[in-house]
Amino acid sequence: MSVTANSVWKNCLVFIKDNIQPQAFKTWFEPIKPVKLSENALSIQVPSKFFYEWLEEHYVKLLKVALTKELGETAKLVYIIRMENTYGNKEPFTEKIPSSNRGAMAAQEMDVPIKSKNPELRNPFVIPGIRNIKIESQLNPNYNFDNFLEGDSNRLARSAGMAVANKPGGTSFNPLLVFGGVGLGKTHLAHAIGVEIKDKYPERTVLYISAEKFTQQYIESVKKNTRNDFIHFYQLIDVLIIDDVQFLSGKSGTQDVFFHIFNHLHQNGKQVILTSDKAPVDMQDIEQRLLSRFKWGLSAELQSPDYETRISILKNKLYRDGVEIPEDIIEYVAKHIKSNIRELEGAIISLIAQSTLNKREVTIELAQQVVEKFVKNTKREVSIDYIQKVVSDYFEMDVATLQSKTRKRHIVQARQLAMFFAKKFTKASLASIGSQIGKRDHATVLHACKTVDNLAETDKQFRKYIDDLTKKFS
Ligand code: ADP
Ligand code: MG
Repeated sequence: MSVTANSVWKNCLVFIKDNIQPQAFKTWFEPIKPVKLSENALSIQVPSKFFYEWLEEHYVKLLKVALTKELGETAKLVYIIRMENTYGNKEPFTEKIPSSNRGAMAAQEMDVPIKSKNPELRNPFVIPGIRNIKIESQLNPNYNFDNFLEGDSNRLARSAGMAVANKPGGTSFNPLLVFGGVGLGKTHLAHAIGVEIKDKYPERTVLYISAEKFTQQYIESVKKNTRNDFIHFYQLIDVLIIDDVQFLSGKSGTQDVFFHIFNHLHQNGKQVILTSDKAPVDMQDIEQRLLSRFKWGLSAELQSPDYETRISILKNKLYRDGVEIPEDIIEYVAKHIKSNIRELEGAIISLIAQSTLNKREVTIELAQQVVEKFVKNTKREVSIDYIQKVVSDYFEMDVATLQSKTRKRHIVQARQLAMFFAKKFTKASLASIGSQIGKRDHATVLHACKTVDNLAETDKQFRKYIDDLTKKFS
């Protein structure tokens, strides 16, 4: 059988299909038409420029591997883009663009399929079936120390972060745990430390990952029977940054694997940086042995920024965006949004947007409208502790009673309501809700939620409880 554009592409598709989600395959690969094969260059036609950019950004490595398999090392890819017909011509015109990564087909940069007889380390960041030699740090260079403004609220955490960045693994701040409420800069600071280390020590392997993604990868590795590869991969890292470790709460398998990785890294003088939305003492459902590790180094808190810091954060943001806004308006925003830097930034962004999109002058009145809307629209995330407190107060009992094992009807109902609201207002899993509300299991929480739903429809008094409590949470 002779090799044609069609046959080459067909084989590529088989390989690609095996390596990505069906939905992604449908969206991004089915619409592609193979057009021409000359020498070792395959031309494919894509529906738009955006489409081409997306492929280049997300799938270029995969395409490379597929094509190399079919056409050898010298394989080239050319995109033919159907441009929109803007001039009323009958025929759409096309534009040809070579794949940008053509030059990068050099061997050491390449992702190579895992050879089954030689199961080398698997990188959990890589599409299954492909081994990536490079480890991407996953750092966001826009989160750096230069734009992480200093204030009383973050001085300790910031300077501890700096110290760690100067001597990763070489200070007593190991692990460095940065904790604080939503939107106070944990993620920003965590990246900044990583970015700084990469600047100073380019040869060190830095990896940033959210605890959620870490957990997903772990679960995946168990499913695929590659748990050891997963552990080995993480043990190779010089600086491991895990964001939002509270997410590990209740996930004993992931905690266990993290415990082993942590010990290995720590013993080998590698740096671990963690963030959490609570102090270690307040963390729920994290194994004691892991908690005690968290406390080995330094726990530094990010607090709500004071007025001066809020002003300088706002000014810095405006400066970087090249926007000028009158002083009194900056002060107004800083005065009214206090607890959270993300909200502060959000308000100023919508103020800028209002003024540029609607061509309205930025006045105090406009600032008032934006701030009011903004503060109203951002639902504060409530904690399960807070929910239990509010529900117990409402029924005039204490939290211990609400959590107790008693079968007394009104206490059971209060407990079920607490579970119901925890499901509704937090992102916690059923298992985690159960264990925090009187050490129940996930089935109990599920049952509670169903019971509350039923009673809401059949019992007028109970409906009122729900409405009253809902008001208290909003
Ligand atoms: P968290 O992870 O604690 O929820 P983030 O790190 O996502 O918070 O921060 C929220 C926003 O506030 C980000 O856009 C971040 O850049 C900004 N921010 C936080 N702290 C500072 C700071 N000290 N200086 C400048 N911007 C900050
Ligand atoms: Mg964060």
